[in-house]
Amino acid sequence: MQELEGKVALITGAGSGIGQATALCFAQQGARVAVLDLSDDNVKQTVEQITQKGGQALGIVADVSQVSDMQQAIEQIQRQWDRLDVVFANAGINGVWAPIDEIEPEEWDQTININLRGTFLTVKYALPLLKVAGGAILITSSVNGTRTFSNTGATAYSCSKAAQVAFAKMTALELAKYRIRVNVICPGAIDTHIDQSTQQRNLEREQEPVVFPEGKTPLTDGAPGNAEQVAQLALFLASDRASHITGTPIWIDGAESLI
Ligand code: NAD
Repeated sequence: MQELEGKVALITGAGSGIGQATALCFAQQGARVAVLDLSDDNVKQTVEQITQKGGQALGIVADVSQVSDMQQAIEQIQRQWDRLDVVFANAGINGVWAPIDEIEPEEWDQTININLRGTFLTVKYALPLLKVAGGAILITSSVNGTRTFSNTGATAYSCSKAAQVAFAKMTALELAKYRIRVNVICPGAIDTHIDQSTQQRNLEREQEPVVFPEGKTPLTDGAPGNAEQVAQLALFLASDRASHITGTPIWIDGAESLI
């Protein structure tokens, strides 16, 4: 039995890392998946991987921080499948990591806009379709949404991730009457492309490379987790097995947040 048979899922940031692994996992479990990402190439790659395995996918190139992009994305899903059951607001960036007196206001805004405003717009425009039959919203925050980072420079990122946890709790309460559950995944270090993008940004502004807290995952002798492990948690939260779980941050970090 496929856990998401008959369901339609929207996944943002589905062109890479956690979003891509979840898109493949959801499709394998019978969902039709709207694969949304900023990067055209990455969208194509994920859609191809799903369709090659006999799954159904709709590729959407969009910027989650843009109103018109997200309105059009939902319109595309409505035209294609006319339903929506699961929304995974996962797209995000580390952004520029810099001391608070060095980070430029535009750099601050970019992180907040993609991570927080992007989550808001994704959920806002998905709601009319989600309300029809109820469903599940998942949000990717971070362990840094609920504690401080062990090195400095990530203030904008941590603020955006902490706000996502508050967003999940408030919307869980507000949307309970529509039988919409909202949960928030807080990963520790996961092996994806996100850290490379950060180093690239810091290189562009001629700043020292970020020193990420390496070797700090107690459960795996320091090694990061992988995107498939997060996808399995997303699958559980999206499925009926999690039917009484809402408004909950769930850590998936090999005990990283406990040290
Ligand atoms: P990733 O870089 O591999 O994937 C992120 C994807 O989001 C990329 O495909 C990128 O193109 C897309 N994206 C970026 N900006 C976008 C925008 N404006 N609109 C649409 N798509 C956009 O990284 P990942 O690690 O898979 O990140 C996914 C989520 O996990 C992020 O929210 C991130 O903050 C969170 N997270 C990651 C880690 C980690 O260690 N990898 C830890 C904690 C939280």
